[in-house]
Amino acid sequence: MTDRRSDTARARLALVPATAEAARPHRWFCNRCASPAAQPGTPPPFARACPACERGLLVEAAAELAPAPGDPFLLVDAGLSVAALSEAAAPLLGVAAQAAVGRPLGELLAPADAEAAGAGALAAAIAEAAAGAEPRRLTVRPVGVFGVRLSARIGVCGPPRAALFALD
Ligand SMILES: [Zn+2]
Repeated sequence: MTDRRSDTARARLALVPATAEAARPHRWFCNRCASPAAQPGTPPPFARACPACERGLLVEAAAELAPAPGDPFLLVDAGLSVAALSEAAAPLLGVAAQAAVGRPLGELLAPADAEAAGAGALAAAIAEAAAGAEPRRLTVRPVGVFGVRLSARIGVCGPPRAALFALD
């Protein structure tokens, strides 16, 4: 709580991410195959099964961050476990998509820069994303694949609220 107006406005944006998120276009997509929702707008809770693969769940993210079908991406929950992994991400990370769900993210991805505070940098980026911070970019490396570097855009998606890693 500050009495400087601009600081107050900034703090409010940081503390109430829904306000900032509502200002940008959002898109619903399947958390498994990235197919878009069949209908525009927010799907009712009973209609959140993916109409394409029928095995994923429709979640929402900023349009600039939301993956398209065939894009490699993964969702990470607040406990730093993999909540979903796209088929395209599996070979990049050297894992089977189904086997990856529920595993700690640290077993699959690490920050690429050793000097970037190690695994703490990844955890911090996920915590920021899950709290609704602006999407950011981080270079990561698959733990099980030698010599590979991936650029990841990290932002919030949900519900349930999770960090979305869109891999390039
Ligand atoms: Zn799907």
